[in-house]
Order: sequence, then C-alpha cells, then structure tokens
Amino acid sequence: MTAKKVAVVTGSNKGIGFAIVKELCQKFDGDVFLTSRDDSRGQAAINQLKKEGFNPKFHQLDIDHKGSVEVLRDFLQKNYGGLDCLVNNAAIAYKNAATEPFGEQAENTIKTNYFSTLNLCNILFPILRPHARVVNVSSSAGFLRKIPSGELRKKLSAPDVTVEEISQLMKEFVESAKAGNHSEKGWPNSTYVVSKVGLSALTRVQHRMFQQDPREDIVVNHVHPGYVDTDMTSHKGVLKPEEGAQAPSWLALLPENVEKPKGDYVWHDCQIVDWLNGPIPGAH
Ligand code: NDP
Repeated sequence: MTAKKVAVVTGSNKGIGFAIVKELCQKFDGDVFLTSRDDSRGQAAINQLKKEGFNPKFHQLDIDHKGSVEVLRDFLQKNYGGLDCLVNNAAIAYKNAATEPFGEQAENTIKTNYFSTLNLCNILFPILRPHARVVNVSSSAGFLRKIPSGELRKKLSAPDVTVEEISQLMKEFVESAKAGNHSEKGWPNSTYVVSKVGLSALTRVQHRMFQQDPREDIVVNHVHPGYVDTDMTSHKGVLKPEEGAQAPSWLALLPENVEKPKGDYVWHDCQIVDWLNGPIPGAH
C-alpha cells in the first residue's frame, strides 16, 4: 500500500469531469483517478491526457451499478488505505427534443443524478480520510427556487430534513411524473431540475453529518460549474470545459481546516450563493 493521497472524479472520460482531472493532475498532491463507465472511452481519455503530458490513473466506475462502486472502494482501500478527494460529477440529462415519456425520463434522471450518487456516497464515505474534500456537481438548475411549490421547498430545505425524507420526495416526484400530475403536486416540468435540487438538498444534509463525524475536517460543497460547452449542452455552453472545471477543482483542493465554503452552494466564479433565497448571479 502507498502512503499517497488519492482523488476520484466520477464520469470523467469527457466534458467537465475530464477537465477537472486535468486540473487536479496539475494541483492535487497525490494520484488522480479518471473514471469511466466504459473501459475503452476511459482509456481513450487517459491516452489523450498522457499525450498532453499529464499522468492520471484509470479505474472503471458506473455509478448506476453498486458492484462497480464496491470494486472501486475495495481497490482504494487496498492500495491507498482510504480516499482524500471525491468529485461527484457523473450525471445525465435528456435533450429537450427527447421523445421518451416524461415518467421514464424522470425515473432515469432521478436514478443516476440523485439515487446513484447517494448510493456511491454511502459506499465511499466510510473510507474518506480526515481532511477529505467532497464536491457534488449540481447546477444552476439545482437552485431551490426552481421548485414551484413553497411547501416542497420548505420540506427540501428544512434544517432537520433527513436523507430518507429527501429520497422519499424524489420517489414521489417520479411517481407523479408517471401519473402525469407532477405540476399539480408542485414540481417543475424538468426532471433534471428535480434531480439537481435533490442533490443540492442532499449536500446540505451531508454537511450536517460531517460536522458530527469523528473524522476531522471533512468538507462537502455543491457547485454550479457554469454553462459549459460539452455534449450535455449540445456544445451550446459559453464556457470551455477548462473554465467549467475551475470552481469544482477549487472546492476539491480546499486547504486543511478551511472555514468557508462548507456545505455551501458555490457558483462557477467561486462565489457562495444562498441556495434558499439567492440572488442568483447573472448570465450562465
Ligand atoms: P457530459 O454529458 O459531457 O459528461 C457526463 C459524464 O458523466 C460522461 O463522462 C458520462 O459518461 C458520465 N456518466 C453518465 N452516467 C454515468 C454513470 N451511470 N456512471 C458513470 N459515469 C456516468 O456532461 P458535462 O461534462 O456537461 O457535465 C458534468 C457535470 O456538470 C454533470 O453533473 C452536469 O449535470 C453538470 N452541469 C453541467 C453543465 C453544463 O453546462 N455542461 C451546467 C451545470 C451542471 P459516458 O461518456 O459514458 O456517457
């Protein structure tokens, strides 16, 4: 086993995750793992970075498959004795033109962006070391006020809300999306918005839990990386992936015993935004 520190970025064979790996390769004091659900896409990304003079490591990781996350956990535990930095970047988004029924889109989007990320945290959090940094890549879409119902907003942001209660709300959204009455129930017409609000709400609970954790100084934040030119935005985003990687990488590299940001919603320009009330900074 090596005494080195180790960082993992989920969904990093392309887009913002790929750029975060590049940034961490330059600034993180330890090994950086590019992960991909598909081995060949992952290897191609590794080869690209090696050509550019970086030296990331590779591990397969499909966050939708519990077994895949467990294999990664065992690998990290065996070879590094823990985990120091985790960037939850992997996510999906249906295109506006997608023809799948809304209920199906809801089920799949909430599954990957919320439940699979939660499941990964449940498996990997036990091996986080003191001073570990966790970054949940949310979105401007994850701002609480994107949820029309005041009642739902109140539940999602309650100071004592539990993970179980947030998960229950996510399940209720999927059920109402399938039944076609999600708007009446106060949900927005975007499965992606609900998934990212769920992830942001989860981050706040994780922050509370880390404050009680016997391991010292574990910090989690959620971040809007900006509107970025990637496959997800059909390359309409205005920021380059390297620019979108700035705030997530900054959060991944926060120094030991930092006072702020902690449990905060951070914009792509690194300013802290009030998740409950805003204001939301201007364009993208
Ligand atoms: P991309 O679609 O370009 O990349 C998404 C990455 O996630 C891909 O590597 C994809 O792998 C991976 N992924 C998807 N599902 C899984 C899974 N089940 N297991 C492992 N990996 C998976 O998106 P972006 O780079 O644009 O987005 C990165 C993050 O930033 C996401 O969380 C997104 O929601 C967020 N974001 C992006 C914005 C933007 O403007 N681009 C704005 C706000 C937030 P594969 O190649 O195999 O599909």
